[in-house]
Amino acid sequence: MSNGPKSGNALFDLSGRTALVTGANTGLGQAVAVALAEAGAGIVAVGRSAMTETAALVAGAGVPFHEIRADLSRMDAVPAVMEQAAATGSRIDILVNNAGIIRRADAIDFTEADWDDVMNVNLKTTFFLTQAVGRAMIADGLGGKIINIASLLSFQGGIRIPSYTASKSGLAGLTRLLACEWAGKGINVNAIAPGYFDTNNTEALRADPKRNTDILARIPAGHWGQPKELGGAAVFLASAASDYVHGIVLPVDGGWLAR
Ligand code: NAD
Repeated sequence: MSNGPKSGNALFDLSGRTALVTGANTGLGQAVAVALAEAGAGIVAVGRSAMTETAALVAGAGVPFHEIRADLSRMDAVPAVMEQAAATGSRIDILVNNAGIIRRADAIDFTEADWDDVMNVNLKTTFFLTQAVGRAMIADGLGGKIINIASLLSFQGGIRIPSYTASKSGLAGLTRLLACEWAGKGINVNAIAPGYFDTNNTEALRADPKRNTDILARIPAGHWGQPKELGGAAVFLASAASDYVHGIVLPVDGGWLAR
């Protein structure tokens, strides 16, 4: 028998693992939760609103599902989420920081409220939730996987979204910092940078015929990303297949950054 690589299934198998996914009620968070569930992981879904659809999709995969309601714009959500996650009786093996918001206005008109609201959800609570989960992973020594949902705005400037670009560029930096601090403790911290996906987040762009045409013309794959197309990257970064991958921001963008 060779000591070669495990079979594909074993490498990507998440059976017996539990993933906490923020903002799992819709869009990319829902698609990631379903992909992880289909790979075998139980799901703890955290969000502001009902998760009925996600619960049904995850149940279809035959894994446990728990829902935690929390407003991640507030710091007091962090201890509340950790307490409720502990009450499920499952260890958090995988954390997906997906919840995020965007506000659009020209930089010259941008308000403090649109700055603070976006930074609080996309960066501040994300960091402190990751700190809490990281502490637990380090305390029991069993390691884990942390996946931040970054953006093309982690690499590019964009227009009319100053706080969003600052938050997603910051998240790429945090991904690298946490990887440097925690890689030696068996925790993989990485990010996924979705390109232009068909979700609520991009509704305003798709509704603007000129922006829609311009964006589509620049995507080599020729179509807006469908949320399902993000699942494989999440399973990869959540699984043993990525055990030596630390601190990357993996674009899943139909080739946008290759242009
Ligand atoms: P979406 O608006 O459908 O989903 C955002 C999710 O975050 C929702 O589940 C929402 O409930 C949750 N959320 C927002 N504020 C919250 C709060 N205060 N408390 C709890 N939950 C909160 O959009 P999406 O496209 O699915 O976005 C998911 C992530 O992907 C975001 O971080 C977004 O920035 C990122 N992203 C999206 C795209 C895209 O093209 N759609 C591209 C790059 C990055």
